[in-house]
Amino acid sequence: MIHYRAAAAAIFALMLQATTTAQEAYQGPIIDMHVHAYQQVSPLFGIQFTNPLTGISYTTTADLEAHKAWTFDRMKAHRIVKAVVDYNPAWEAEDPDRVIPAKGGGNLETLRQGFMSGELQIMAEMAPYYNGVQADDAAMDPYFELAESLEVPVGYHIYPGGPPGAMYAGYPGVRAENAHPMQIERVLVAHPKLKIYIMHAGWPYLEDMKALMYAHPQLYVDLGVISWALPRAEFHHFLKGLVDAGFGKRIMYGTDQMVFQGAFDQAIGNINSASFLSMEQKADIFYNNAAAFLGLSPEEIEEHHLQAGNE
Ligand SMILES: [Zn+2]
Repeated sequence: MIHYRAAAAAIFALMLQATTTAQEAYQGPIIDMHVHAYQQVSPLFGIQFTNPLTGISYTTTADLEAHKAWTFDRMKAHRIVKAVVDYNPAWEAEDPDRVIPAKGGGNLETLRQGFMSGELQIMAEMAPYYNGVQADDAAMDPYFELAESLEVPVGYHIYPGGPPGAMYAGYPGVRAENAHPMQIERVLVAHPKLKIYIMHAGWPYLEDMKALMYAHPQLYVDLGVISWALPRAEFHHFLKGLVDAGFGKRIMYGTDQMVFQGAFDQAIGNINSASFLSMEQKADIFYNNAAAFLGLSPEEIEEHHLQAGNE
């Protein structure tokens, strides 16, 4: 009897340890591949929004200043030592070590000059989706050509597009039929040296993403908005699918916070609570994979770990 109780206690202790270890929060530095700054007043500023999929309500940031203050506050609180920011030069001026300036569209010559001068470093967020244009449309090719020739990484939005039902609420160009991630394949084949990540990881097309990532080892993804705007079970299902298929080294953290206060905390919490991820896998998603994608130097990486210990 005593023997049985001791064995049961030992098994219980092991189970408890396995659970707590798996869901332990990651404490190291984070690279955020997906942050929005804005340069103009957004109609989304200063409203209440309830996400119909999760039931979570948000008070959005009140104005441009409040938006910047909130974003920097959360980045520091969560040890986000680097962030791809689309786009406001004032943000980079304020914190040049943290901010990686990015822009995903507009005049091609302006972009070229920005990348040549170093004023811009990443072509993101590319989102012609909102105008009904797919990645393999001929109109997009000069952008990929430019990024490939200058060795500028690209962040490409495919889906989801706006909040649920966006087509009926201010985004008339949105179509579910344009959400298919396979549209990127011709671009990858035409531009084999292109460094590219699909934003929001191509949700909800898990099988297609497995096929694409299997076929194209250079393709990365960020988690983006699916990390907080989907029900946690669906986000975990999608993330687990990619990790189980062996692609855990090419998944990068990104918040896509927009104006929704709570996004950083929820996104990071939803990754930390994924019981199927080991601490090593969490570290890969939060930091290591982006450090590899961006080609950070060993010195920079060491500095980020020191900084994370202090922030
Ligand atoms: Zn975004």
